[in-house]
Amino acid sequence: MLCRQLHAPWIEKFLERRRWIERKVIEDIGDRIHVFPNLRHLHHISDFQAGRNVLRAHEAPYHIAVVPIAPGWREGLKEHIAARGLVVVLPDGRQESHIFQPQPIPEKFNRKQVLSWLKTCKRHRSRCNPKAPDVKGMRLIDCKSEHLTIRDYEPGNNYVALSYVWGQSGSAGPTKAAVPRGTTKRTVLKLPEDIPLTIRDAIEVTKALRYRYLWIDKYCIDQDNQEEQRAQFSRMGDIYAGSQLAIFALGDDSNAGLPGVSSTPRLGQEESRSGPFRFISTMPDPHESIKRAKWSTRAWTYQEGLFSTRRLFFTNHQIYFECNAMNEAESFKSNLDIIHIRNGQRFRAYHRAGQFVCGNSTPYSHLDVRHNKANHRKIDMVRRCQHQIAQYTRRELTNKDDMLNAFAAIARFYAKTAAMIASLAGIPIPFPIANLPSGNRQEGLDHLSYALAWLHEADNFDHQFPRRIIQQTSPSGNGSAEWKQLPWTPDINPKAQRRRGFPSWSWAGWFGQVRSRDDLPYCWTSLLSSSVQIGFPNGDLKDYYELVHQGVSRYKQYRIRELLTADTLHFDAFVLSPRKLRVVISRRSHDVDAWISMGPSSWDELHARLESGEYQCVVLGTYGEPRRDVYRAIQAADKKSKTAKKRRIDLFERRESAVIVCLVVRTDHVRGVSFRRGLLKVRYYYEVGGENALRDWNTGPRRSFVLR
Ligand SMILES: [Zn+2]
Repeated sequence: MLCRQLHAPWIEKFLERRRWIERKVIEDIGDRIHVFPNLRHLHHISDFQAGRNVLRAHEAPYHIAVVPIAPGWREGLKEHIAARGLVVVLPDGRQESHIFQPQPIPEKFNRKQVLSWLKTCKRHRSRCNPKAPDVKGMRLIDCKSEHLTIRDYEPGNNYVALSYVWGQSGSAGPTKAAVPRGTTKRTVLKLPEDIPLTIRDAIEVTKALRYRYLWIDKYCIDQDNQEEQRAQFSRMGDIYAGSQLAIFALGDDSNAGLPGVSSTPRLGQEESRSGPFRFISTMPDPHESIKRAKWSTRAWTYQEGLFSTRRLFFTNHQIYFECNAMNEAESFKSNLDIIHIRNGQRFRAYHRAGQFVCGNSTPYSHLDVRHNKANHRKIDMVRRCQHQIAQYTRRELTNKDDMLNAFAAIARFYAKTAAMIASLAGIPIPFPIANLPSGNRQEGLDHLSYALAWLHEADNFDHQFPRRIIQQTSPSGNGSAEWKQLPWTPDINPKAQRRRGFPSWSWAGWFGQVRSRDDLPYCWTSLLSSSVQIGFPNGDLKDYYELVHQGVSRYKQYRIRELLTADTLHFDAFVLSPRKLRVVISRRSHDVDAWISMGPSSWDELHARLESGEYQCVVLGTYGEPRRDVYRAIQAADKKSKTAKKRRIDLFERRESAVIVCLVVRTDHVRGVSFRRGLLKVRYYYEVGGENALRDWNTGPRRSFVLR
């Protein structure tokens, strides 16, 4: 067992590396058995001194590993432990550790374990407080009724929610047969006889944990009523947030079942004995199991994990629990009193944050700061929202038209934060933060310019190097979510692809992952005309500023939904001179970067299209110098000490010379409509300097654009 546990793929890697470094054959490699005291490599523990001290003080057991003596083995060890777990040595007669003790995992689901976690969690009153959902027409499955009837939610009904992957068995959409046709309110609705295994197991778990009601999208949303469907889809975040517990099924489809509950077996834990020692495997890190599961590749499940309060994951090996204050794996018995801070509301800092919320180190910890009105926190919000878009666009949808439906809960969450972020067809635009008496309208435009300047996760091209190719394996939305990074190949077009039915100026209009943004919005100076209008599918045309920044203290539900359906942008903008661009590029300097999502794949090609007028570089704005008043006002308004606020805000600032940022658009001159094709950045600081550069680069007065 030990050999198997310590076996292979990672050691191979080290041997490879060592061979490469020393150019020697591997016979002389000096592997040795290494004993690590105090379970330092545990996935729970942040490996810094405080964490080690705690383990030492509480006599945590030790573990062993075979370690090749080669540089870099420490990093590899972490990876290996995450994927395979540790082997822990427990000498007979030694007292149990006060803090972490590996424990045998039973073959079957153990409800007592979950009940004890839930009991502890109920003490986290300030952090783990499911809020009763106020969702019209919400229904629940009554698990205690004889025929599993579906009934209306009533305040006070405590329920469990299920998050799972429908898979092919569920076809593209929910089965119409789930709720019989032609039923009226008085008819009793019930689950069909033949329900998939995962659903059946989830009902068992719900009952075992002493809950009566279960919410499952497929059965609790009337699939024949499109209006209800749309309304409830946009409130999914609230439904999960309101559940007492969310069950996460990580299997490939709805027939995979929950391991350990009924017929789906768990992958066994390895355990053995040698003399007076017991060896026990801690099993793979549940975070790793979650990351590798199909569940993590689906777009809908993203918000379900994000907004739930208490999460119970069924991995192939064990169960893993995570609430907003702690995370616990079945393979470890831990002493929650020791690892919580004194008031018991969250884990101490040395305890590593969970996959979703607890701790400050993860992008999910937004839950803690959403009401913070400090300006740098509002900037935090924008950045977290951008991060979540980057994560979200990695995932896949069965139904490609759901691109913004599955994002609606996230949009709604950010609209209700202190930053009041509007999601205009998905692109995040905060409410004016600097709040200058004269400049709110201008600040609104700065936000818009910045928001439009998102990028796909692909390398930029310049004329000297062929591009690295990054390609999504399946733009149709089926298959794996893996992004392939191919070697340097100049002749394959790496492009993202258009998603019809959504505007090209939003990420929602594309298949392809969006890059995480790390530049600061407030260095921006928008150069768009002050009058920007937004068009909607029904033909309505509304003033951008009035719509997004109308000064209401909170966005209303219908407004959040309306903003998501935005279709066209109407504005006047400067256009960059293709002639000037050619001059810079011919000098072979690095002053211009282009990220083209679709279309030309070389400079020459791009040029030809710019010069023919088919493509244009539409100037969104500049950043770097000159910095706007807005940025200074934001810093000045924060109440912290001077150094603190500087540190916080400067953290986000990308130090770069002044840059003109342009959207590259393709214009259909017959219809008078333009489509986003990519982004272009021109550094002009060294070239001309200051505002002269702008004059130099532009080709005359602003021109009108309709961007779709
Ligand atoms: Zn809790």
